[in-house]
Amino acid sequence: MIELPKEVEIVEVSPRDGLQSLTEFVSTDRKLSLIEALKKAGFRRIEVTSFVSQKHVPQMADAEALMNALKNDSDFEKMGLALNDLGYKRAIQAGVDWICYVISATETMSRKNANTTLEESLEAIKRCIRDAHDLGIRVRASIAVCWVCPYEGKVPKEKVLEITSKVEEADEIAYNDTVGRAVPNEVYELCYLAKKFFPKKRFAGHFHDTNSTALANIYAAMSAGWTVFDSAIGGLGGCPFSPGAKGNVATEKVVWMLEEMGIKTGLDYEKLKQASALASEIVTC
Ligand code: MG
Repeated sequence: MIELPKEVEIVEVSPRDGLQSLTEFVSTDRKLSLIEALKKAGFRRIEVTSFVSQKHVPQMADAEALMNALKNDSDFEKMGLALNDLGYKRAIQAGVDWICYVISATETMSRKNANTTLEESLEAIKRCIRDAHDLGIRVRASIAVCWVCPYEGKVPKEKVLEITSKVEEADEIAYNDTVGRAVPNEVYELCYLAKKFFPKKRFAGHFHDTNSTALANIYAAMSAGWTVFDSAIGGLGGCPFSPGAKGNVATEKVVWMLEEMGIKTGLDYEKLKQASALASEIVTC
């Protein structure tokens, strides 16, 4: 018998990962209304924005304004993305509960996504983890392209595990299938090894549904004991610097599957559908 978790945490990423690629700027008020709808659906953690270059990702130019509007809201944990020291400092200043600090599993992806070498980004994230912990702020070390890199092809498992060992002090480590080309047997193998070598660590899976394998990959990761997964309402979004990376897995699909399997998510499916309708209005307007 495969042992599956009784409950999982779904981290909603649509306000950041879902909207970031839209060329038409979504107003701060509309983003706040989406976050409000998501909050009502029961999310305990939402990735609300990213602290990156306004020039490269203009959709996230209102990161500070958005965080300011949310500063008295303690109903959920606010996660903000950073790629470097500057982003990390802005995120701390803005009052995030969690920093999602993105590094890459390959050298080329690191240069394309964060304009830095892998070595430099590992040094930077280690500093970030130390500083953030001094301030009582949690850090997710989010590793891009853990299975397939659009520039370097298949990524060796040993490479991902080696990077994991260097960011072990993070509160959570996320493995990203950034281009949606991971398949369930390989997901299981890597997730199993991660749990075997780092049994106390909390891991999160971020799967893209580009090739319709995201739900199967979530199942594979759960089979290896993983219990935290990212998704975006309506399947919005992708990565602007990774060719072919579109389609975060849709929250509704994940929640439906898990609840039907008897795995608790703590989310209200009807309210999720309302949030999804609002998200589709935002995207099409
Ligand atoms: Mg994504």
